[in-house]
Formats: sequence, structure tokens, C-alpha cells
Amino acid sequence: MTPQLWAVVFACAALVAVCTGVLAWRQRDRTPAATALAVTMGGVAVWSLADVAVYGLQTEVVRRVYLPLLLASVGLVVIGTYVLARTVSDPSWRLAPRRAALLLVEPLLMVLFAALPPTRDLVVSGMATGPAGGETEVVFGPLFLAHTAYSYVLVGVAYTHLARRWVASVGAFRSQIGILLGSAVLSTTGNVVAVVSQLDGRGTDVTPLFFLVTGLIDCWAIFRGGLLRLVPVAREQVVDTVPDAVLVVDPGGVLIDVNPAAERLLRRLRPELDGDLVGRPLPEVAGPAAVAVLGTTERLDGHRVAEVRPGVWLDVRDSAVADPRGRALGRILVVRDVSEQQQRQVAVERLNRQLAEQVEEVERLRAVLAEEAVRDPLTGLHNRRHLDRALDADLAHRPRTGQLSLLVVDIDHFKTVNDRFGHAAGDRVLTSVAGTLSAAVRGGDTAARLGGEEFVVVLPGAGREQALVRAEQVRREVAAARHLLDGEPVAVTVSVGVAVCPADGTSAAALLEAADRALYTAKATGRDRVVAAEAPLPSAVPVPPAAVLPVPAPPRDLQELVPGV
Ligand code: GH3
Ligand code: MG
Ligand code: MG
Repeated sequence: MTPQLWAVVFACAALVAVCTGVLAWRQRDRTPAATALAVTMGGVAVWSLADVAVYGLQTEVVRRVYLPLLLASVGLVVIGTYVLARTVSDPSWRLAPRRAALLLVEPLLMVLFAALPPTRDLVVSGMATGPAGGETEVVFGPLFLAHTAYSYVLVGVAYTHLARRWVASVGAFRSQIGILLGSAVLSTTGNVVAVVSQLDGRGTDVTPLFFLVTGLIDCWAIFRGGLLRLVPVAREQVVDTVPDAVLVVDPGGVLIDVNPAAERLLRRLRPELDGDLVGRPLPEVAGPAAVAVLGTTERLDGHRVAEVRPGVWLDVRDSAVADPRGRALGRILVVRDVSEQQQRQVAVERLNRQLAEQVEEVERLRAVLAEEAVRDPLTGLHNRRHLDRALDADLAHRPRTGQLSLLVVDIDHFKTVNDRFGHAAGDRVLTSVAGTLSAAVRGGDTAARLGGEEFVVVLPGAGREQALVRAEQVRREVAAARHLLDGEPVAVTVSVGVAVCPADGTSAAALLEAADRALYTAKATGRDRVVAAEAPLPSAVPVPPAAVLPVPAPPRDLQELVPGV
């Protein structure tokens, strides 16, 4: 090939490198890898332009500036390649200013050595004076060889990182990184071939052409293939600033990125963790217990909320991420510490439970009070107030042809019981008679204490016959009972007046009055008996059946107790 043809080839290479570099530079906001690629392409462009100049112009000046220019461009390519490989292998990696300064030291020194006449020959000799073009006879000095070795070491370190990342990753990431590694091998091989072919001082340095191909492949992989799109896109703007912890996990379960909130959360939850979190398997970073708890927690609306350790509740949203072609790139976990809300919720639930219990207690007390309000405290029977209401209600609901009976029950000679055995003993007798009455009533009936030793039983639906039978049953049971008062078995009797609705009246007052009248009759005719309201006065009482029932012989002790019985 003629030098002119080489000049054209390198000019084309420079043009492509410039275009690629500009394209990469314009994408620098999307990923830090873009900046590194732009720097590499810049280096390739300068390198190619230097070759254009040296082959095309072949002037003294060009030959003098060629070497410093070449070394400057090699420096850019090496630094760009290093940063690119580090960024791809670890998306959270950033070029610190200190490291950037260190990386610049060697290229700057080499440019200086190549530019200054006393040291120039230590780099390359014969270049400025020999015949120009591809056949230039040059001798590489020790500094050039040292520079070459240094560059290989630096690039080698970066490629080792890339290779390690390639081994650790799976799926789409793996193939993308594989492409970058392949392209790196291509340019390195090209460079080795070029350097070796030039060791005799002849030959053409075709390295920039190889780097150009590498750059084009990398450019395609990064911008078309989706590599790094997942992680660095807008992370500066969004992911780094959101209060939620964001973790990116590759398809193999390895953590490939964390935002500052995630870093803080993980360090807080697991202070024992040290070193880089990125690049480690998620269970190792999050802790096997937390992963197990979350694994068994049911997903609700895409969230899992679990207590990963006592008092620490995490809300985890897990979404799969794929590249534009649907290949799995990994998962994004958005984690929020909801311990405070959870504790508040637990407290609110506890308060709610307490409130419900209190409401229940108030309701119970209210019911007790309501019941107490209609009960007689001594006997437990309903009181006058309830009786009035119940009787009115029973009368109101009485079927048109239905009947209702009312018994007024009065203990005979009760005053004597009090007088002889005391008030407390009298109370016990009252309670006992009340017990007999409440045992005698059925569902729908009402037994109430009207006051003193007087009781009322309401029997809705009962006609005269039934009422008399029930009254007689009560009378008999009371008379049969024995009350142990002061060690003595004492019997009491009751007199009962019976009134029936509608025959004896249809209002509560009329019925009570009629029953009272009957009771009076019972008392007047000897007590311990049942008298129906309709019953004529004692002289006309038909005995035995209906109105006045047979009077059993009073128990002996009552005869003693009640004079004249
Ligand atoms: P009768 O056969 O005519 O009904 O005579 P009695 O003695 O039963 O009637 P009286 O009306 O003369 O007396 C009723 C007594 O009942 C008077 C009162 O001291 C007593 N008494 C009223 N309420 C209570 C009470 O709650 N407890 C006790 N122990 N006695 C009461
Ligand atoms: Mg009495
Ligand atoms: Mg009385």
C-alpha cells in the first residue's frame, strides 16, 4: 500500500471515530460508559489523524509532532478502555478524581519525553529524521517499551474485571459483556500484532483501525443492545434521590446495583456487612432469614410486607426487567421500611380492640341497669313499673277473641312472720314465695312484685279455668313449702284473687281492681284460697269447683302461728 492510500484509510478511520465519539458523548447522560467510549474514540480519532498527517504530509514538522501526538492518543485510548471496562463490570463504579489524576500522569510524562529532544530518543529514535511514511525506520527506546508494558497492564486489569463480571453474570448481561470482551480481545490482538510487526522499526501501526472496530462494537452493544441501559439510565436523577431503597439483581440473583437509600438500609439492618455490596448474591447481602421470611410472605397488590426481624417491617415490591427484545435483565426490588407505620397500625388495632371491649362492657352495663330498673331487688321478680308496661302491652296485643288472666297473690298474716321472726326472716319468706311464683310462670307470662307481700301474675291467653288451675297450683306449692326460721319449719299460705279479660274488665286498672276485689273475698272467707273476680260474695260461693277451691287444713305450725286459724 502506498502512503497516500494509508492516509486515506486513516482519514476514514478518523472520521468514523469522530462520529462514534460524538454519538457516545451525546449519550453521556444515559451511562458513564458513554463518556469512556467517547474518550476512547477521541483517542482513536487523534491517533488516526496523526497517521493521516504522517502518511499524507510527510513534512519535518509532522514527523516531530507525530510521536507526542501518538502517545497522547494512546493514553486517551488506554484510559478510555480502562474506564469503560470498569464501568461495564460494575455499574456503580465511578472514576474518582484522584484516580483520574493518577491515570493522566503516565501519558503526560510520555508526551513530555517524546516532545523534548534530550529524551525523545529514549522513546523512539529515528522517527523525526528517517524517511517518512510506512517504511520509516525507527527504533523503539526503553521508555516506549515501558509505556507499552504499562498500557498492557492497565488494560489487562480492566479486562480482568470485565472477565470476572462475565463469569458471574447470566442471561442477556452475560452475552453483552461477552461481546465487549470479544471486541477487547480483537483490539488487543491487533495492537500486539502491530507492535510486534513494528519492532524491527518498519511496518505500519494499524492499531487505531482495530480500536475503531472495537469502539464500533462497544457502541452497538451499549446503545443498541441495551447493555447498562437498565442500571445507569436516569439513576442520578431518580434512583439516587428516591427515599425508597432500590436494589437491582441480575438473573443469577447477584446484586448489581444499589442506590444510596438501599446502601443505608442494608448497612443499618446488617451492620456486620463490610466491603462492597454490589457483586454479592442477594441472600448474602440481605441475610438468609430476611430472604426466607419474604419468600414465604404472600404478595398483595405486588407488595410483600413482612417482619424481617423483630420490630423491622419491610415493604418489598419486586419487578422483573427485560431488554427491548424481552430477554431477562434481572429484577428491581424497591424496598421501604414500614416499621413505624406498622407499629402505628398495631397500636391503632389495639386501641380499636380496647374500644370495642369498652363499648361491649358499656352495653352490658347498660343492659344490666335496664334490667335492674325493672326488677325488684329483694326477690328478683319484675317490679311494678315493668308490670304496668307488660300488662298494657299484653292487653294491646291480645287477639280480638283472646283472653288474659291476672292473679293477685297476697301472703296471709305476713305481718305475724315479721313480728315473730324478724324482718330478715320475713324477707327470706318473701324471696321463697317469689321463687315459687317465677317457677310457675311460662314463656310470655309475667310475675311481678306489686309491693310489700303482694304479687301479680299475668297469664296472656289464659281463660278463667286455666287461671284458676294455675292459681291453685301456686297456692298449693306455697302452702306445702317449709321455711326454716330460727330453726323452726314454718309454713305460710297465700290468698289469690283472679280476674279475667274481657269478662272482668279490659284495662289494666279495671283488671287489677277486679282481682283485688276477689283477693279481698279470699281473705274475708278464711284466706289460703283462690277466688275468681266474678265470684259472688262468700255466702254464695259454690264449693268446691270453680270459684273457691277447697281449703286444705292449715299446717300445724301455722295454726300455732296464726291465732284463730
Ligand atoms: P293479711 O293476711 O290480711 O294480708 O295480713 P298481713 O299481715 O299479711 O297484711 P298486712 O298488710 O297487715 O301486713 C303486711 C306486712 O308486710 C307489713 C309489712 O311490715 C310487711 N312487709 C311489707 N314489705 C316487706 C318487706 O319487704 N319485707 C318484710 N320482711 N316485710 C314486709
Ligand atoms: Mg298479707
Ligand atoms: Mg298485703
